[in-house]
Amino acid sequence: MVALVMWAQPSHALDASERLSVVLSKPDSARDADAGAVVVTITNKSSEPLFLPKFRTPLNKVDGHIHGHFMDVKNDEGKQAEFIGIFVDILPVGMSFYTRIEPGQSLSGTIKLSRDYDLSEGGNFKVSYEQPFEDNVQFDEYGEVHGHSDTVTSNVLDIWVSASLAAAAKKLAFAPTALPDIPELSCKPEQMAALFTARMSIASWVSKAEGYAKNLYDVEKIQIEDNDGRIDTRYRPRMKPDFKYQYWFGALDNDQQTYDLRPSYSSVWDKDDFYPFKQLNAISKRAANPDFHYSCGCPVESDPLSGAMARTNDPYLVLICDFYFEIDKGQQVQTLVHELSHFHDEDADSAYDYAYGRQAAHALATSDRKKALRNADTIGFFVQDVVENTQ
Ligand SMILES: [Zn+2]
Repeated sequence: MVALVMWAQPSHALDASERLSVVLSKPDSARDADAGAVVVTITNKSSEPLFLPKFRTPLNKVDGHIHGHFMDVKNDEGKQAEFIGIFVDILPVGMSFYTRIEPGQSLSGTIKLSRDYDLSEGGNFKVSYEQPFEDNVQFDEYGEVHGHSDTVTSNVLDIWVSASLAAAAKKLAFAPTALPDIPELSCKPEQMAALFTARMSIASWVSKAEGYAKNLYDVEKIQIEDNDGRIDTRYRPRMKPDFKYQYWFGALDNDQQTYDLRPSYSSVWDKDDFYPFKQLNAISKRAANPDFHYSCGCPVESDPLSGAMARTNDPYLVLICDFYFEIDKGQQVQTLVHELSHFHDEDADSAYDYAYGRQAAHALATSDRKKALRNADTIGFFVQDVVENTQ
């Protein structure tokens, strides 16, 4: 009986690892291995085509970099190596968002980890990552591509990296982009006009989103009588339940911690419920920073759906790709907010790309709230949602 039921199952009921395998191995050349090179081999073991989102697939590179931070690279103490690469943002509005892998097909490529992670201390590292893949990809009601998603984890590869080779690679990664003295000059006049308008909008959009969130911030005054009959006043911060906020950032923790003094939202924003305050504050400061600048044009090997790119080590430069100018104005502002969330400074850690698109970002709020709170598209959509859908 049990066997019969199993036969009747469609192939997507198989375990992820029975459908897709991801193997990390060392390159043939010892020198490449010592410089932090790793071979990635992805095999479709299922009987249907599968779709690998390029932004989390190490086979896809731009300028020798993978598309963002998704590799686990840990030293002997288990500490994750710092990401020093580029966030390459592809909009999920066409099938080239994915690399298609046919049944039985294997795709292989080599990545140079020392260009994306700071391995300059050298020594032993353990490398692994989670590869998402999808099937049944369709256009959803937002015009975004979206499929049934699953994830498979690679093997853990032990590598040894030479400190001097990794330091040389890091230097390359940190080399300034070859830009004209005034990067904006790479933009055509009509592109400059569109960017100017979008840039002007960021400040008002983000401040509107901050105002919206502040209206949800509430501090409960709690009076507790102690054993001696004395009344002790305590304060408990919380977010009022709100559809928009929870749609993007997930269900509230409603942490019960209380404080002696009434806490401002900025004194508690490292806690999950209040973390969007920290992000919004950082984004609005970065948008106003005179170092925030942009350059038009992205490397030739970039996907045609690339909207923009941000380099972690080049604050606050945003590379604007050609496709950016084909999206509507709201999306353009959302994209710039997204890019500004990628920088890492004293105001906030960088946000990462865990999910692109409205459906996927919203799904993350339920499946993995910690990631939703640190997902670049999520903060951008929250801002856009508040501005476009609030009276
Ligand atoms: Zn991004």
